[in-house]
Amino acid sequence: SPLTQLISIFSPLQVLLVFAKEDSQSNGFCWACEKANYRCSLAHTPESALECFSEKHHDLVIVDHRHSRHFDAEALCRPDREEASVMPLINAGFNRRYVENANMMACYNELLQLEHGEVRAQFKLRACNAIFTALEQSQDAIEITSEDQVIQYVNPAYEAIMGYQQGELLGKEIIEVPKSEKNKPDLLETINTCIRKGKEWQGIYYAKKKNGDNIQQNVKITPVIGQGGSQRRHSSMARIHSMTIEAPITKVINIINAAQESSPMPVAEALDRVLEILRTTELYSPQLGTKDEDPHTNDLVGGLMTDGLRRLSGNEYILSTKQPHHLPSHLATPLSLNDIPPRIAQTMETEGSWDFDIFNLEAATMKRPLTYLGLKIFSKFGVCEFLNCPEATLRSWLQVIEANYHSSNSYHNSTHAADVLHATAYFLCKERVKQSLDPIDEVAALIAATVHDVDHPGRTNSFLCNAGSELAILYNDTAVLESHHAALAFQLTTRDDKCNIFKYIERNEYRTLRQAVIDMVLATEMTKHFEHVNKFVNSINKPLAALEENGSILTSPENRILVKRMLIKCADISNPCRPLELCIEWAGRISEEYFAQTDEEKRQGLPVVMPVFDRHTCSIPKSQISFIDYFITDMFDAWDAFADLPNLMQHLDNNFKYWKGLDERKLHSLRPPPE
Ligand code: AMP
Ligand code: ZN
Repeated sequence: SPLTQLISIFSPLQVLLVFAKEDSQSNGFCWACEKANYRCSLAHTPESALECFSEKHHDLVIVDHRHSRHFDAEALCRPDREEASVMPLINAGFNRRYVENANMMACYNELLQLEHGEVRAQFKLRACNAIFTALEQSQDAIEITSEDQVIQYVNPAYEAIMGYQQGELLGKEIIEVPKSEKNKPDLLETINTCIRKGKEWQGIYYAKKKNGDNIQQNVKITPVIGQGGSQRRHSSMARIHSMTIEAPITKVINIINAAQESSPMPVAEALDRVLEILRTTELYSPQLGTKDEDPHTNDLVGGLMTDGLRRLSGNEYILSTKQPHHLPSHLATPLSLNDIPPRIAQTMETEGSWDFDIFNLEAATMKRPLTYLGLKIFSKFGVCEFLNCPEATLRSWLQVIEANYHSSNSYHNSTHAADVLHATAYFLCKERVKQSLDPIDEVAALIAATVHDVDHPGRTNSFLCNAGSELAILYNDTAVLESHHAALAFQLTTRDDKCNIFKYIERNEYRTLRQAVIDMVLATEMTKHFEHVNKFVNSINKPLAALEENGSILTSPENRILVKRMLIKCADISNPCRPLELCIEWAGRISEEYFAQTDEEKRQGLPVVMPVFDRHTCSIPKSQISFIDYFITDMFDAWDAFADLPNLMQHLDNNFKYWKGLDERKLHSLRPPPE
């Protein structure tokens, strides 16, 4: 598009660092500039900064404000100090604070956020100015209307040719402007049909001037289709920043941010409130007013607008045909934390470490790692105390849940659930996460992780929909598996008092807990992946980066929901961030499960959902590279920025290089062949 062409002439970005002394922080930014392919200059005094700036007109200026004895950064940026100020010269303004962090990736993230946030928005605004100047100068009559055909703009040539003044036309619908009788009667309909299909229309059109004269015009009508919309990005290069800027809501937020720059105080403050609303998590669910309004309205709104998740009336589905598993008899024997066999207890000693080997536990427990790890982790978090339930109930519950995972699946078995539980518990111990979540959120997260894939058939949602499975019919092809995991979990839990861990809590507490568990299990659905990650970045990462005080960001109910969703999502697909050997094992297991699905699709003549996962042709390294590029990198960048997980990022980097290495050698297997 012309806009991107205009924008591209501004790249690479020019960055000016104003640092009294070079140190690890200025080096961090220098390296980050290099990584991002920006040009970077360094100035040590306000005077040299100004001189350098007037020469190069940098797009970004970073001023060191830590040592005010060297120079006063705020004064340098204050518009009223004309003589030694860069402020009057830069449009973007002095608009962000960066808290000292010399980590190159942190600097890099900051630069990218600035580029894809304010800087690009500024470029676009500048580009718009250029385009409108061109339109004003054009000899051709040009008219712009909105989608519903309200006139938004006419250029001077239009005014001259048609005899109207702009003011007479703006805001009017085009049908209100008199039309010539000389056109064929169905011409307008033909044009509209064409435009609605997104196609350009070109032809002869008779227009009526203001004075009533008809003139023949050679007209071209071009529909302008918004970017964003339903287009999906397929590039694996989508880094978090470019990805978020593509979401329409992010564009809106950036435009408003840019507009705030040049708005008077009351407008800027009003826009702040607009931003607050736009950043809320549930943009489309109306917030119900307090009870003192008209009761009819209250009931109607409550009855029609509240969905199943929030109503929580206990109307779980009854899955009539297949009987869920009951406790296998060999496991029904009492088992408590105190009498866990020593070999198993020993295997679990390193449970607090990220590098904990879940496959050891799988072997030691004869494929029942969830019950044992569950007992240990739930006790560590005081879940029984919170739920006020006997340990025996928790134990039975864990056993029933585990019995309903399919040990015949190579990936989606109870070892995966135990792995996700482990990751969840690990994340819950991170400082930022602890700051934002309440005890009930922690309990909900542990329960959600435990049940999140229960009764997984080892086939994907698309497979179940294509095959017309009972579950797909039951859940209308929408979030089929996730709905089933959540519903079945509650069914298994509440069906029998012996394993009903919710039996001893208050009704309201149960509702809150149930809602949180359902929300988290549904959040693992991958069609919503980008929505969850985007919301997290927009509502949490970005505001946290911009503010010093962050209490309210962390603890607002909306944001706690986002943190919980992100937490379980990251736990669910954390296998690429595990130590290499574990990561390889998981990759082998998921590939095998996908291969089995492809085999079955072929056998049954069903559409092959993921043709690359054909055991005869698949390159596992390539599939892992794509998975990491498309789903993992951005998400964990954001999660790491929040929860601080350098060890995971290190593993991820290492594992990615491992897959790249195999791929460069054109190997398709999990491991290189023996020398
Ligand atoms: P869940 O079914 O809740 O485990 O959702 C996670 C999704 O990510 C599933 O569709 C998995 O098949 C997929 N997934 C997890 N790990 C990998 C991996 N290493 N490679 C490819 N897909 C994966
Ligand atoms: Zn899962």
